[in-house]
This record gives sequence, structure tokens and C-alpha cells, in this order.
Amino acid sequence: VELSNQIAAGEVIERPASVVKELVENSIDAHADQILVTVSQSGLKSIEVSDNGDGISPDDVEIAFQPHSTSKISTDHDLFSVRTLGFRGEALASIASVSKLTILTSIDGKSAVKADFAGNTLLNKETFARSKGTTISVEDIFFNTPARLKYVKSLHTELNRIVDIVDRLAMGHPDISFRLIHEGKDLVWTSGNGNLQQAIAGIYGRSIASHMLEFENSDSDYEIKGYFSKPDTTRSNRSYISMILNGRYIKNYHLSNAVVRGYGSKLMIGRFPVAVIDIKLDPNLVDINVHPTKQEVRLTNESRIEELISEGIRSRLSDQNL
Ligand code: ADP
Ligand code: MG
Repeated sequence: VELSNQIAAGEVIERPASVVKELVENSIDAHADQILVTVSQSGLKSIEVSDNGDGISPDDVEIAFQPHSTSKISTDHDLFSVRTLGFRGEALASIASVSKLTILTSIDGKSAVKADFAGNTLLNKETFARSKGTTISVEDIFFNTPARLKYVKSLHTELNRIVDIVDRLAMGHPDISFRLIHEGKDLVWTSGNGNLQQAIAGIYGRSIASHMLEFENSDSDYEIKGYFSKPDTTRSNRSYISMILNGRYIKNYHLSNAVVRGYGSKLMIGRFPVAVIDIKLDPNLVDINVHPTKQEVRLTNESRIEELISEGIRSRLSDQNL
């Protein structure tokens, strides 16, 4: 069992950032509205995700760590139409197979269960106390798979990947407060009050967020809202242009190009804005034939969405005489 979990882990758990992604997505699925991620040494030493979600009942704790055990029924087709992000039921088993893991969870805020795993073996299970929700601590990731550890890039790159993951999840869920602390330093801290601009403030900083412009441009099929920097606030690459589709961060080259196009000649060559574009559409209009772990998503009638984005930005900039 452990071997097959490690093989499964190869697909899901490539690096510390994958652990963060899977754990935080579980917290979102569990209806948490506060999620705290604490990492040290870019996650290689430890990763802890704590939430105030539904918790796991004492009897289900071990079951949750068995491969292909999911409490979330969904099919590929549901990928964009249902809220739950989990669909494989293998993340916890995979993470436990390559780390030392402790879970502390409570469904009622009274009694809690604390369980320790090492390489998928349950070492210890005891009764504890905790407010409602779940804390999962992962230490010494890849301690038993040194070959994989070799491929993990530099600490700096790894930390950036973790920040990216939390940024993206936070943008898609302005109604959840996300906090990311690395070595005692706050890197992300969103308010969770439902306002996208305030979420952006918790991600890129107050000063950038407060100087952004806003547009809304919708038709009968698409509801598009975006925040974008004035032409004087730019970056040297397009990674600060984010697309959120029905609450999920996606990659789509054509849509980020549409953002750039909206600025016309107002951007210097080789410079890119900071922008977050929130797109809502009927899930049936999304081509969901994508691999679950890939973010590149193709859309039906992409050019119409491009138009709405470019046009929204262009007209807002000209309103402002910018
Ligand atoms: P999946 O998310 O695909 O169902 P996972 O291996 O990630 O599979 O999680 C297994 C199960 O453990 C979930 O279906 C859920 O029931 C439970 N679980 C995991 N994390 C949490 C959490 N933070 N809060 C509540 N339940 C959780
Ligand atoms: Mg999951």
C-alpha cells in the first residue's frame, strides 16, 4: 500500500507547494472561512495548515488517509460546476506517504482527535482539545524519498511557488481569510470580507491595490469584473495578470493578452500590468476536458471574453484620461 501511495504521490505531491495546495483546497472544501498556512524553510522543514472548517469525525480520521477515500462525490464534468475542489481522494494518503504528519481535528469544538502518521503508518491516536476545524502539520517532507528531494529547486523558488498557490486560492475566494506565514513573516493576509480589491491588498499590498482601477463588462453569457493597475504601475513579466474563472485560478494566454491589449499604446513595450480578472460564466461554456492538475483551460467563445476584457479596460482608462 505504501509503495502505491508513493507512486500516486509522484503525480500529486511533487514539491512543498503541492502539499500546501492540497491541504488548503481541503480546507476550502470543508467550508473554512479562515485558513492559516505556516511554513518553515520553504516548506521543506514544515508546513502547517489550520482551518476553522467542518473537521473530521474521530471515526473517519484513519479512513481519510486511505488512498482513494474521498467524502466528495464528483465527476470530471463537475470540475467547474461544483464548489468542491477535491476529486481524487488521494491527497492525504499521498502526503502522509512522503512525510511525518500530524492531524488535529474537531467537528464540534469540544473534543478533538490527534493522530500521528509516518510514511502512512498510524503511530498514535489520542483525544485532545481544539476549536472546530482541522490542523494538519507536515514535517520533513520527502524524508523517505531522497531521490525526489534532489529535484526540488532552490529554497527561494520553492517559497515563490507556495506564495503563488496561496495568492491564487485567495484571489478565487475573497470570502475566505488566507494568511501565509514563512519563518515568522506574513507573506499573504487577506481579510476574507468578500471584497476582491481587499483580497488583492492582502496579496500584493495595500498601496498597489488602492491605486488599481475597476471595470465591469458583462453580457448575457459572461459576467466580468476586473481590477487593473494604472499604466504607470507595471512589471517586467505577465505573471501579475491573473484570471479567475468561476472562483478558480486559470491560465489562459489569450485572456491575459486581452488585458495587455486593453492598454493599447499606454504600456511601454515589454512591460505588463498588475491585474486580476474575475470571470463568471455558465459551466457548460467551459471546455472542461483538461487534466485536473493543469491550469491551462480552453473556453468556448474565448474571443468574446477577450473583447469584453479589452473593451472594459480600454474604456475605463479613457474615462480616467489615462
Ligand atoms: P479529497 O479531497 O479528494 O476528498 P483528500 O485525500 O484530500 O481527498 O482528503 C480525504 C478526505 O479527508 C476528504 O474527502 C475529507 O472528507 C477529509 N478532509 C481532508 N482535509 C480536511 C479538512 N481540512 N477538513 C475537513 N475534512 C477534511
Ligand atoms: Mg483533497
